Amino acid sequence: MDWQNEDLKYIWHPCSQMKDYETLPPIVVEKGSGINLYDINGKCYKDVISSWWCNLLGHCHPRINAAIKKQVDTLEHVIFANFTHKTAITLCQKLIKVLPKGLCKFNFADNGSSAIEMGLKMSFQYHYQTDNPQKKRFMALNDAYHGETLAALSVGGVDLYSELYKPLLLDVVRINGLDCYRCPYNKCRDNCSCECFEQAENAFEKYGNETAAIIVEPLLQGSAGMKIYPPLYLKKLRQLCDKYNVHLIADEIATGYGRTGKFFAFDYANVTPDIMCLSKGLTGGYMPMAIAVTTQKIYDAFYDDYLKGKAFMHSHTYSGNPLACSAAIEVLNILEDEYIIEKAQDKAKYFNKIIKEKFLQLDNVGEVRSIGLINAIELVKNRETKEPMDSAKRTGYQIYKKALQKGVILRPLGDVIYFNPPLIIEKEDMDFVTDIALECMKEVLFEK
Ligand SMILES: *Cc1c(COP(=O)(O)O)cnc(C)c1O
Repeated sequence: MDWQNEDLKYIWHPCSQMKDYETLPPIVVEKGSGINLYDINGKCYKDVISSWWCNLLGHCHPRINAAIKKQVDTLEHVIFANFTHKTAITLCQKLIKVLPKGLCKFNFADNGSSAIEMGLKMSFQYHYQTDNPQKKRFMALNDAYHGETLAALSVGGVDLYSELYKPLLLDVVRINGLDCYRCPYNKCRDNCSCECFEQAENAFEKYGNETAAIIVEPLLQGSAGMKIYPPLYLKKLRQLCDKYNVHLIADEIATGYGRTGKFFAFDYANVTPDIMCLSKGLTGGYMPMAIAVTTQKIYDAFYDDYLKGKAFMHSHTYSGNPLACSAAIEVLNILEDEYIIEKAQDKAKYFNKIIKEKFLQLDNVGEVRSIGLINAIELVKNRETKEPMDSAKRTGYQIYKKALQKGVILRPLGDVIYFNPPLIIEKEDMDFVTDIALECMKEVLFEK
């Protein structure tokens, strides 16, 4: 059977121009192990993007496999309204120990975007039910990414995904200024005082009274090109939110679970958001699940006699799915038993060191930035002026194609090449994938 042809006959792949598949047909994956994926011809690919940032501990981890197998023979799924199960309860008991203090009420969804929708609706309804019905707008950062459903797209600020749909989207207050590589204030992220925060202050002064919540990707704006900003911004934002009675929603979908070096990116700022959205690493990249977790205070605003109509009437069929919960529990067990996040921090130092050594020698590398094991290499036309590459040349995409031939999955964000590997990556693989990426980058940059 020609599986590639059969695929193209039926399948419309996500986030893809399907015509590109004429020259780069889909790779048919047969199995996975650790950071390796194997196609049906036995060729190995190093998954250093964690299969869209969700695979946390490697593919087909024996302990997670065993946990799901055990669960599937006990209970596969059950309605989650008025019914519950030990797996979901156990997960919450464990999660509460690693979450920022004060986050204690868990509402389940089955994908990241849905958890974002849930957070936004929850915040709006909270204000409505606490005598602030005028608070019905949201604020978000420039270059934000929060998912692809309509409200999630509305708070997002990456035009590639949202531009076309603008006529359908909510009117969101956008806060500009946060851009540490091309800082409009000419500061440097390692020692600035978040001068750009004045733009948030201005926005709150103008719109704070009509705003329900601000949503942020803490420290790392992933889809915007792995843009990194300092924790001070979050600290300041917490204070500003308190002043104006605006909820702070943390989208930790990409940053949670040790990706930034601590369990959550918010841990660097030592403050608690009002709502936190989790997905991706939550099940180790095994099962679609997401959670919006919030405070007792928000929960209490929905708690009343039925006829008062204050319940949160939001549901997903697969809320609290036991298979996903069993994977999520085992992920937490492994992180704890094997000191995965602590060990990943040591690996991160090595990874960042070799990436700087290898890539900064190229004139087209404008910046190498890193947080945790995530490393991004931004290609520019001119290092001095930071002028971007000509996007029509699709330099990142050319590098991606070459690296695939050599068995490394990069999938750049435009002309930002990045690594976001499973936390269990070993030195040997760090050496290998950076060598291949460098080789491919040189081939593409120098052949033009
Ligand atoms: C992936 C992602 C989402 C959306 O999650 P989906 O499961 O793809 O809907 C939202 N926010 C951030 C920061 C993400 O990285």
